[in-house]
Amino acid sequence: MKNLGTETAFEVLAKAKALEKQGKDVVHLEIGEPDFDTPRNIKDAAIKALNSGYTHYTPSAGIPELRQTIADYISKTRKLEVKPEEVVVTPGAKPIMFFSLLALVNPGEEVLYPNPGFPIYESMINFVGAKAVPIPLKEENDFSLDTEYVKKKITKKTKMIILNSPENPTGGVATREQLKAVADCIRDRDDVLVLSDEIYSRIVYEGKHESITQFAGMKDKTILLDGFSKTYAMTGWRLGYGVMRKDLAEKVAQLMTNSNSCTCTFTQWAGVEALTGPQNEPERMDAEFRKRRDMIVPGLNNIKGITCKIPHGAFYVFPNITGTGMDSRKLGDHLLYNAGVAVLPGTSFGQFGEGYLRISFANSIENIKKALDRIEKAVKKH
Ligand code: PMP
Repeated sequence: MKNLGTETAFEVLAKAKALEKQGKDVVHLEIGEPDFDTPRNIKDAAIKALNSGYTHYTPSAGIPELRQTIADYISKTRKLEVKPEEVVVTPGAKPIMFFSLLALVNPGEEVLYPNPGFPIYESMINFVGAKAVPIPLKEENDFSLDTEYVKKKITKKTKMIILNSPENPTGGVATREQLKAVADCIRDRDDVLVLSDEIYSRIVYEGKHESITQFAGMKDKTILLDGFSKTYAMTGWRLGYGVMRKDLAEKVAQLMTNSNSCTCTFTQWAGVEALTGPQNEPERMDAEFRKRRDMIVPGLNNIKGITCKIPHGAFYVFPNITGTGMDSRKLGDHLLYNAGVAVLPGTSFGQFGEGYLRISFANSIENIKKALDRIEKAVKKH
């Protein structure tokens, strides 16, 4: 257990909630979840499923209807041919990380992963006894992949490369050329797999989402992770999935049998509605995220000591705070305890996050304005 890390967003959330209990007002910009309600049609589909008796176990890999729906959706959006047998439905997309690493990576093998990056990657790599090899994402490269670096870090022991685009926490987006370069490095390596975390695939502000699965030979080498939490504001429903080769899908389903048995039945029916029903709500949410992004970035750049790049996807900004004279953790605590703004230190996302904060803009314009005002005063006062 000592090798297992955690996701500090949940710890900061707990600290912020404790402050609120004492009567303090806190603006929540720490947790990565849309502030919107789940669209009505999706909730109605779950209620209908509940009332129709869909309250029992399902096959471990998911109900055939949802596996088919996801196969069709991924086939269409990634321009692939995906079969339902290649889909495993899980309670949230996070278990796909857990299961893939558990199933496929042995002690001593190496896994490349983005840093700063979603903390569970490094946590799980360490947990399975593998060697975590960070791919630093640098501000000067707009937080995108340095493929020459990736190439250099691939060794005989490399077992997996984790990619995340759009990226949490930086908002960086991988280009087609970058993904092709990574694919070219590993195409001939039968022993290397990719875990492609595409959970933010529908929240892209410039250009379009690109997946490594589009390149020759890559579909069979990739575990594509996606889900419903972000796109459909369904974080609490716990619904996600992995798309992978049938033989791998069978093993991941076996891990599901050994852990969860299956994903909640009526939630899965809600998932069918989410993907096949009207898409105007996610589109409205994306437009709102864009407005917020276009407000928070200049707002942060106006604060002395802080500079902020424009994120190209997801709903986070990753401002450079070195000019404030405080390190990430100190500034994070200062903002929480002295200004009532909950954010995450960049170091919650790995060692290359020092000098940055991660701020989620999945909150209202009004709250973001309030937070910017409070941050400015708190930084000035320090
Ligand atoms: N990947 C990334 C990069 C994320 O930021 C998150 C959620 N914060 C997930 C995966 C997992 O999402 P969920 O388990 O809610 O589907």
